Amino acid sequence: MLDYRLYFPLLNRVYEGKPLQYFDNAATTPKPQVVIDAVNEYYNLYNANVHRGPNFLSEEATNLYESSRSKVAAFIGADREEIIFTSGATFGFNLVARSWGEQNLKKGDVIALSRAEHHANLVPWLQLKEKIGIVIEYIDLNDEGTLSADSLDKIFAQPKLRLIAITLASNVLGQYYNLEPLIKRAKIKNIITVVDAAQAIAHRSLDVKILGADFVSFSGHKLFAPSGIGVLYGRKELLEKMPSFLGGGNMISEVLCQSFKPAVLPNKFEAGTPNIEGAIALGTAIDFIKKIGWQEIISREENLSKYFIQAIKKLDFVKVLGGEEGRLPVFALSLTGFHPHDAADLLGERGIIVRAGHHCAQPIHDYFKVKASLRASLSFYNTTEEIDNFIVALSEIKEIFKN
Ligand code: PMP
Repeated sequence: MLDYRLYFPLLNRVYEGKPLQYFDNAATTPKPQVVIDAVNEYYNLYNANVHRGPNFLSEEATNLYESSRSKVAAFIGADREEIIFTSGATFGFNLVARSWGEQNLKKGDVIALSRAEHHANLVPWLQLKEKIGIVIEYIDLNDEGTLSADSLDKIFAQPKLRLIAITLASNVLGQYYNLEPLIKRAKIKNIITVVDAAQAIAHRSLDVKILGADFVSFSGHKLFAPSGIGVLYGRKELLEKMPSFLGGGNMISEVLCQSFKPAVLPNKFEAGTPNIEGAIALGTAIDFIKKIGWQEIISREENLSKYFIQAIKKLDFVKVLGGEEGRLPVFALSLTGFHPHDAADLLGERGIIVRAGHHCAQPIHDYFKVKASLRASLSFYNTTEEIDNFIVALSEIKEIFKN
Protein backbone atom coordinates (compact mmCIF):
# COMPACT_ATOMS: atom_id res chain seq x y z
CA MET A 1 0.00 0.00 0.00
CA LEU A 2 1.18 3.52 -0.83
CA ASP A 3 2.68 5.32 2.16
CA TYR A 4 1.30 8.84 1.75
CA ARG A 5 3.46 10.03 4.64
CA LEU A 6 6.40 10.03 2.22
CA TYR A 7 5.00 13.16 0.56
CA PHE A 8 5.62 15.21 3.69
CA PRO A 9 9.23 16.04 4.69
CA LEU A 10 8.11 17.05 8.20
CA LEU A 11 7.17 13.45 8.91
CA ASN A 12 10.82 12.39 8.52
CA ARG A 13 11.65 14.26 11.70
CA VAL A 14 12.90 12.24 14.61
CA TYR A 15 12.49 13.64 18.11
CA GLU A 16 14.85 12.21 20.73
CA GLY A 17 15.06 8.99 18.82
CA LYS A 18 11.32 8.72 18.18
CA PRO A 19 9.75 9.14 14.74
CA LEU A 20 7.30 11.98 14.45
CA GLN A 21 3.66 11.02 14.54
CA TYR A 22 1.50 13.96 13.55
CA PHE A 23 -2.05 14.01 14.96
CA ASP A 24 -2.55 17.78 14.82
CA ASN A 25 -3.90 18.24 11.30
CA ALA A 26 -6.87 20.31 12.48
CA ALA A 27 -4.40 22.92 13.75
CA THR A 28 -2.36 22.88 10.56
CA THR A 29 -1.47 20.21 8.03
CA PRO A 30 2.11 19.32 7.12
CA LYS A 31 3.17 20.57 3.69
CA PRO A 32 4.02 18.22 0.85
CA GLN A 33 7.37 18.75 -0.89
CA VAL A 34 5.65 20.12 -4.03
CA VAL A 35 4.12 22.96 -2.01
CA ILE A 36 7.45 23.81 -0.36
CA ASP A 37 9.05 23.76 -3.83
CA ALA A 38 6.40 26.14 -5.19
CA VAL A 39 7.24 28.71 -2.48
CA ASN A 40 10.99 28.36 -3.18
CA GLU A 41 10.44 28.61 -6.89
CA TYR A 42 8.61 31.90 -6.52
CA TYR A 43 11.62 33.45 -4.76
CA ASN A 44 14.19 31.76 -6.98
CA LEU A 45 12.57 32.72 -10.29
CA TYR A 46 10.12 35.62 -9.85
CA ASN A 47 10.23 37.57 -6.57
CA ALA A 48 8.02 40.28 -8.04
CA ASN A 49 4.87 42.07 -7.00
CA VAL A 50 1.66 41.28 -8.89
CA HIS A 51 -0.47 43.61 -11.06
CA ARG A 52 2.33 46.17 -11.01
CA GLY A 53 5.31 46.17 -13.21
CA PRO A 54 5.64 46.18 -16.97
CA ASN A 55 8.47 43.65 -16.70
CA PHE A 56 8.54 39.94 -17.31
CA LEU A 57 9.13 39.01 -13.65
CA SER A 58 5.99 40.80 -12.56
CA GLU A 59 4.04 39.48 -15.54
CA GLU A 60 5.02 35.90 -14.80
CA ALA A 61 4.30 36.28 -11.08
CA THR A 62 0.90 37.82 -11.91
CA ASN A 63 0.07 34.97 -14.28
CA LEU A 64 0.89 32.39 -11.62
CA TYR A 65 -1.04 34.27 -8.92
CA GLU A 66 -4.11 34.68 -11.12
CA SER A 67 -3.98 31.13 -12.42
CA SER A 68 -3.98 29.99 -8.81
CA ARG A 69 -7.14 32.03 -8.26
CA SER A 70 -8.72 30.20 -11.20
CA LYS A 71 -7.68 26.87 -9.68
CA VAL A 72 -9.29 27.80 -6.36
CA ALA A 73 -12.44 28.92 -8.18
CA ALA A 74 -12.68 25.62 -10.09
CA PHE A 75 -11.90 23.66 -6.90
CA ILE A 76 -14.96 25.08 -5.10
CA GLY A 77 -17.26 25.73 -8.08
CA ALA A 78 -17.05 29.54 -7.97
CA ASP A 79 -16.30 32.27 -10.53
CA ARG A 80 -12.83 33.76 -10.31
CA GLU A 81 -14.12 37.26 -9.38
CA GLU A 82 -15.75 35.64 -6.35
CA ILE A 83 -12.42 34.44 -4.94
CA ILE A 84 -10.75 36.93 -2.61
CA PHE A 85 -7.30 35.96 -1.37
CA THR A 86 -7.06 36.69 2.34
CA SER A 87 -4.55 35.92 5.06
CA GLY A 88 -6.76 33.09 6.33
CA ALA A 89 -10.23 32.07 7.44
CA THR A 90 -10.23 34.59 10.30
CA PHE A 91 -9.64 37.50 7.93
CA GLY A 92 -12.60 36.40 5.79
CA PHE A 93 -15.08 36.50 8.69
CA ASN A 94 -13.77 39.90 9.78
CA LEU A 95 -14.17 41.17 6.24
CA VAL A 96 -17.79 40.02 6.03
CA ALA A 97 -18.67 41.30 9.51
CA ARG A 98 -17.11 44.70 8.90
CA SER A 99 -18.00 45.25 5.27
CA TRP A 100 -21.35 43.49 4.78
CA GLY A 101 -22.31 43.64 8.46
CA GLU A 102 -21.74 47.33 9.08
CA GLN A 103 -23.46 48.24 5.82
CA ASN A 104 -26.52 46.03 6.27
CA LEU A 105 -27.14 45.37 9.95
CA LYS A 106 -28.55 47.73 12.54
CA LYS A 107 -29.27 47.74 16.27
CA GLY A 108 -31.69 44.99 17.24
CA ASP A 109 -31.10 42.85 14.15
CA VAL A 110 -30.59 39.19 14.99
CA ILE A 111 -27.80 36.99 13.76
CA ALA A 112 -27.46 33.29 14.63
CA LEU A 113 -24.34 31.23 15.21
CA SER A 114 -24.02 27.57 16.11
CA ARG A 115 -22.71 26.59 19.54
CA ALA A 116 -19.80 24.91 17.78
CA GLU A 117 -18.22 28.03 16.26
CA HIS A 118 -14.51 28.65 16.37
CA HIS A 119 -13.63 32.05 17.86
CA ALA A 120 -12.77 33.18 14.32
CA ASN A 121 -16.44 33.04 13.32
CA LEU A 122 -17.64 34.31 16.68
CA VAL A 123 -15.51 37.21 17.92
CA PRO A 124 -15.98 39.37 14.76
CA TRP A 125 -19.74 39.12 15.39
CA LEU A 126 -19.30 39.91 19.09
CA GLN A 127 -17.28 42.97 18.04
CA LEU A 128 -20.13 43.99 15.75
CA LYS A 129 -22.55 43.50 18.64
CA GLU A 130 -20.43 45.89 20.75
CA LYS A 131 -20.27 48.37 17.92
CA ILE A 132 -23.85 48.51 16.64
CA GLY A 133 -25.93 46.47 19.07
CA ILE A 134 -26.93 43.43 17.02
CA VAL A 135 -28.42 40.49 18.93
CA ILE A 136 -26.64 37.13 18.79
CA GLU A 137 -28.63 33.91 19.16
CA TYR A 138 -27.23 30.38 19.24
CA ILE A 139 -28.35 27.24 17.45
CA ASP A 140 -28.24 24.45 20.06
CA LEU A 141 -26.71 21.05 19.42
CA ASN A 142 -27.86 17.55 20.27
CA ASP A 143 -25.59 15.37 22.44
CA GLU A 144 -24.03 13.78 19.36
CA GLY A 145 -23.10 17.24 18.08
CA THR A 146 -25.76 17.60 15.35
CA LEU A 147 -27.90 20.74 15.04
CA SER A 148 -31.08 20.72 17.13
CA ALA A 149 -34.13 20.91 14.83
CA ASP A 150 -36.21 22.58 17.58
CA SER A 151 -33.60 25.20 18.16
CA LEU A 152 -33.36 25.89 14.42
CA ASP A 153 -37.15 26.31 14.23
CA LYS A 154 -36.99 28.87 17.04
CA ILE A 155 -34.16 30.74 15.36
CA PHE A 156 -35.96 30.83 12.00
CA ALA A 157 -39.10 32.14 13.73
CA GLN A 158 -37.22 35.30 14.80
CA PRO A 159 -38.63 38.12 12.65
CA LYS A 160 -35.40 40.12 12.79
CA LEU A 161 -33.08 37.27 11.79
CA ARG A 162 -30.72 38.65 9.13
CA LEU A 163 -27.70 36.37 9.01
CA ILE A 164 -26.54 32.89 10.01
CA ALA A 165 -22.81 32.26 10.48
CA ILE A 166 -22.09 28.59 10.87
CA THR A 167 -19.34 26.05 10.54
CA LEU A 168 -19.35 23.28 7.94
CA ALA A 169 -17.38 21.08 10.33
CA SER A 170 -16.50 21.53 13.98
CA ASN A 171 -12.83 21.67 14.94
CA VAL A 172 -13.79 20.12 18.29
CA LEU A 173 -16.58 17.62 17.64
CA GLY A 174 -15.37 16.67 14.19
CA GLN A 175 -19.04 16.79 13.16
CA TYR A 176 -19.59 17.58 9.48
CA TYR A 177 -22.85 19.46 8.99
CA ASN A 178 -25.10 19.04 6.00
CA LEU A 179 -25.90 22.73 5.69
CA GLU A 180 -27.75 22.64 2.39
CA PRO A 181 -31.28 22.43 3.89
CA LEU A 182 -30.51 25.20 6.38
CA ILE A 183 -29.15 27.45 3.64
CA LYS A 184 -32.15 26.77 1.37
CA ARG A 185 -34.44 27.73 4.22
CA ALA A 186 -32.42 30.89 4.89
CA LYS A 187 -32.52 31.88 1.21
CA ILE A 188 -36.32 31.80 1.13
CA LYS A 189 -36.31 34.43 3.89
CA ASN A 190 -33.44 36.50 2.42
CA ILE A 191 -31.20 35.59 5.33
CA ILE A 192 -27.49 35.80 4.53
CA THR A 193 -25.36 32.72 5.25
CA VAL A 194 -21.67 32.73 6.16
CA VAL A 195 -19.99 29.33 6.23
CA ASP A 196 -16.77 28.43 7.99
CA ALA A 197 -15.09 25.79 5.83
CA ALA A 198 -11.71 25.97 7.64
CA GLN A 199 -11.93 22.36 8.84
CA ALA A 200 -14.11 20.82 6.16
CA ILE A 201 -12.03 22.00 3.20
CA ALA A 202 -9.29 19.34 3.53
CA HIS A 203 -11.71 16.46 4.10
CA ARG A 204 -14.66 16.82 1.71
CA SER A 205 -15.14 18.28 -1.75
CA LEU A 206 -16.96 21.59 -1.71
CA ASP A 207 -19.14 23.19 -4.37
CA VAL A 208 -20.24 26.60 -3.17
CA LYS A 209 -23.06 26.79 -5.72
CA ILE A 210 -24.54 23.50 -4.53
CA LEU A 211 -24.04 24.52 -0.92
CA GLY A 212 -25.73 27.80 -1.79
CA ALA A 213 -24.01 29.92 0.88
CA ASP A 214 -23.44 33.63 0.38
CA PHE A 215 -19.95 33.62 1.90
CA VAL A 216 -17.47 30.81 2.60
CA SER A 217 -14.11 31.31 4.27
CA PHE A 218 -11.16 28.96 4.74
CA SER A 219 -7.39 28.92 5.29
CA GLY A 220 -4.69 27.43 3.11
CA HIS A 221 -2.57 26.04 5.92
CA LYS A 222 -5.16 23.41 6.88
CA LEU A 223 -5.25 22.36 3.23
CA PHE A 224 -1.55 21.45 2.79
CA ALA A 225 -0.73 25.02 1.63
CA PRO A 226 1.42 27.60 3.47
CA SER A 227 0.15 29.75 6.32
CA GLY A 228 -0.82 33.36 5.73
CA ILE A 229 -3.00 32.60 2.72
CA GLY A 230 -6.73 31.99 2.76
CA VAL A 231 -9.81 32.37 0.63
CA LEU A 232 -13.05 34.22 1.04
CA TYR A 233 -15.71 33.21 -1.46
CA GLY A 234 -18.56 35.69 -1.76
CA ARG A 235 -21.50 35.78 -4.14
CA LYS A 236 -20.66 38.31 -6.82
CA GLU A 237 -23.88 40.35 -6.43
CA LEU A 238 -23.12 40.83 -2.75
CA LEU A 239 -19.40 41.54 -3.12
CA GLU A 240 -20.15 44.17 -5.74
CA LYS A 241 -22.44 46.09 -3.39
CA MET A 242 -20.17 45.85 -0.36
CA PRO A 243 -17.78 48.66 0.59
CA SER A 244 -14.08 47.85 0.39
CA PHE A 245 -12.58 46.72 3.67
CA LEU A 246 -8.89 47.63 3.91
CA GLY A 247 -7.61 50.51 1.80
CA GLY A 248 -4.30 50.90 -0.02
CA GLY A 249 -2.59 49.96 -3.24
CA ASN A 250 -4.00 47.30 -5.59
CA MET A 251 -7.63 47.77 -4.43
CA ILE A 252 -8.30 51.03 -6.30
CA SER A 253 -8.95 52.06 -9.86
CA GLU A 254 -8.43 55.78 -9.20
CA VAL A 255 -7.28 57.91 -6.27
CA LEU A 256 -7.75 61.66 -6.08
CA CYS A 257 -6.83 63.93 -3.20
CA GLN A 258 -10.34 63.80 -1.73
CA SER A 259 -11.79 60.57 -3.06
CA PHE A 260 -11.07 57.14 -4.50
CA LYS A 261 -12.77 54.64 -6.77
CA PRO A 262 -12.35 50.99 -5.80
CA ALA A 263 -11.05 48.45 -8.30
CA VAL A 264 -13.36 45.83 -9.76
CA LEU A 265 -13.66 42.39 -8.15
CA PRO A 266 -11.70 40.68 -6.77
CA ASN A 267 -8.94 43.31 -6.38
CA LYS A 268 -11.35 45.61 -4.56
CA PHE A 269 -10.83 43.47 -1.45
CA GLU A 270 -7.09 42.81 -1.85
CA ALA A 271 -5.34 45.90 -0.53
CA GLY A 272 -1.55 46.03 -0.53
CA THR A 273 1.00 43.45 -1.59
CA PRO A 274 -0.63 40.06 -1.18
CA ASN A 275 0.90 36.78 -0.04
CA ILE A 276 1.94 35.96 -3.61
CA GLU A 277 4.00 32.87 -2.90
CA GLY A 278 1.26 31.59 -0.57
CA ALA A 279 -1.42 32.04 -3.22
CA ILE A 280 0.69 30.29 -5.85
CA ALA A 281 1.48 27.42 -3.49
CA LEU A 282 -2.21 27.13 -2.58
CA GLY A 283 -2.80 26.31 -6.25
CA THR A 284 -0.10 23.63 -5.98
CA ALA A 285 -1.77 22.22 -2.84
CA ILE A 286 -5.04 21.98 -4.76
CA ASP A 287 -3.26 20.08 -7.57
CA PHE A 288 -1.83 17.78 -4.87
CA ILE A 289 -5.27 17.04 -3.40
CA LYS A 290 -6.73 16.44 -6.84
CA LYS A 291 -3.94 14.00 -7.58
CA ILE A 292 -4.73 12.00 -4.43
CA GLY A 293 -8.46 12.28 -5.21
CA TRP A 294 -11.45 12.87 -2.94
CA GLN A 295 -12.60 9.28 -3.14
CA GLU A 296 -9.27 8.06 -1.78
CA ILE A 297 -9.12 10.77 0.89
CA ILE A 298 -12.66 10.17 2.11
CA SER A 299 -12.46 6.40 2.15
CA ARG A 300 -9.12 6.39 4.01
CA GLU A 301 -10.40 8.92 6.54
CA GLU A 302 -13.64 7.05 7.11
CA ASN A 303 -11.69 3.89 7.86
CA LEU A 304 -9.37 5.77 10.19
CA SER A 305 -12.35 7.33 12.00
CA LYS A 306 -14.07 3.99 12.53
CA TYR A 307 -10.82 2.43 13.71
CA PHE A 308 -10.12 5.31 16.09
CA ILE A 309 -13.60 5.21 17.63
CA GLN A 310 -13.42 1.44 18.22
CA ALA A 311 -9.88 1.65 19.60
CA ILE A 312 -10.60 4.51 21.98
CA LYS A 313 -13.55 2.59 23.47
CA LYS A 314 -11.01 0.28 25.09
CA LEU A 315 -9.88 3.17 27.32
CA ASP A 316 -12.39 3.65 30.14
CA PHE A 317 -10.85 7.00 31.16
CA VAL A 318 -11.48 8.63 27.77
CA LYS A 319 -14.67 10.02 26.28
CA VAL A 320 -14.97 11.31 22.72
CA LEU A 321 -16.95 14.55 22.54
CA GLY A 322 -19.76 14.34 20.00
CA GLY A 323 -21.15 11.42 18.06
CA GLU A 324 -19.85 8.62 15.90
CA GLU A 325 -21.65 9.31 12.62
CA GLY A 326 -20.99 11.93 9.94
CA ARG A 327 -17.71 13.05 11.37
CA LEU A 328 -14.27 13.99 10.19
CA PRO A 329 -11.25 12.26 11.78
CA VAL A 330 -11.03 15.02 14.41
CA PHE A 331 -11.47 13.78 17.97
CA ALA A 332 -11.62 15.94 21.08
CA LEU A 333 -11.22 13.68 24.10
CA SER A 334 -12.20 14.43 27.67
CA LEU A 335 -9.95 12.61 30.12
CA THR A 336 -10.60 11.37 33.63
CA GLY A 337 -7.71 11.38 36.09
CA PHE A 338 -5.28 13.71 34.34
CA HIS A 339 -5.19 16.98 32.47
CA PRO A 340 -5.14 17.16 28.66
CA HIS A 341 -2.12 19.49 28.82
CA ASP A 342 -0.12 16.88 30.76
CA ALA A 343 -1.24 14.23 28.29
CA ALA A 344 -0.19 16.38 25.31
CA ASP A 345 3.24 17.02 26.91
CA LEU A 346 3.86 13.36 27.58
CA LEU A 347 2.61 12.31 24.15
CA GLY A 348 4.99 14.90 22.69
CA GLU A 349 7.87 13.24 24.52
CA ARG A 350 6.92 10.09 22.63
CA GLY A 351 6.96 11.97 19.31
CA ILE A 352 3.16 12.16 19.08
CA ILE A 353 1.90 15.65 18.29
CA VAL A 354 -1.62 16.50 19.50
CA ARG A 355 -3.27 19.58 20.90
CA ALA A 356 -4.76 20.33 24.32
CA GLY A 357 -7.00 23.14 25.52
CA HIS A 358 -10.21 24.62 24.19
CA HIS A 359 -8.90 24.84 20.60
CA CYS A 360 -10.23 28.41 20.18
CA ALA A 361 -13.75 27.11 20.72
CA GLN A 362 -14.54 27.87 24.33
CA PRO A 363 -18.36 28.05 24.04
CA ILE A 364 -18.62 24.46 22.78
CA HIS A 365 -16.48 23.23 25.68
CA ASP A 366 -18.68 25.17 28.13
CA TYR A 367 -21.75 23.71 26.42
CA PHE A 368 -20.47 20.17 26.94
CA LYS A 369 -19.25 21.15 30.44
CA VAL A 370 -15.65 20.23 29.68
CA LYS A 371 -12.90 22.71 30.60
CA ALA A 372 -10.32 21.42 28.14
CA SER A 373 -9.89 18.48 25.83
CA LEU A 374 -7.12 16.55 24.16
CA ARG A 375 -7.51 16.69 20.40
CA ALA A 376 -6.19 14.07 18.03
CA SER A 377 -6.88 15.17 14.47
CA LEU A 378 -5.98 12.87 11.62
CA SER A 379 -5.65 13.19 7.90
CA PHE A 380 -5.76 10.74 4.99
CA TYR A 381 -2.02 9.99 5.27
CA ASN A 382 -2.22 8.76 8.88
CA THR A 383 -2.37 5.04 9.58
CA THR A 384 -4.07 2.55 11.90
CA GLU A 385 -0.62 1.70 13.34
CA GLU A 386 -0.32 5.29 14.46
CA ILE A 387 -3.72 5.00 16.17
CA ASP A 388 -2.47 1.86 17.94
CA ASN A 389 0.64 3.78 19.11
CA PHE A 390 -1.55 6.59 20.37
CA ILE A 391 -3.75 4.21 22.38
CA VAL A 392 -0.73 2.48 23.93
CA ALA A 393 0.89 5.83 24.76
CA LEU A 394 -2.29 7.17 26.35
CA SER A 395 -2.64 3.99 28.49
CA GLU A 396 0.97 4.35 29.66
CA ILE A 397 0.38 7.99 30.57
CA LYS A 398 -2.72 7.03 32.54
CA GLU A 399 -0.55 4.61 34.56
CA ILE A 400 1.84 7.45 35.46
CA PHE A 401 -1.04 9.42 36.97
CA LYS A 402 -2.62 6.46 38.74
CA ASN A 403 -1.42 7.35 42.19
N1 PMP B 1 -12.59 27.97 11.90
C1 PMP B 1 -12.26 26.76 12.30
C2 PMP B 1 -13.32 25.70 12.39
C3 PMP B 1 -10.93 26.46 12.61
O1 PMP B 1 -10.60 25.23 13.02
C4 PMP B 1 -9.97 27.48 12.49
C5 PMP B 1 -8.50 27.22 12.82
N2 PMP B 1 -8.28 26.54 14.00
C6 PMP B 1 -10.38 28.75 12.06
C7 PMP B 1 -11.69 28.96 11.77
C8 PMP B 1 -9.41 29.89 11.94
O2 PMP B 1 -8.44 29.64 11.00
P1 PMP B 1 -7.18 30.63 10.85
O3 PMP B 1 -6.58 30.75 12.22
O4 PMP B 1 -6.29 29.92 9.89
O5 PMP B 1 -7.69 31.93 10.35
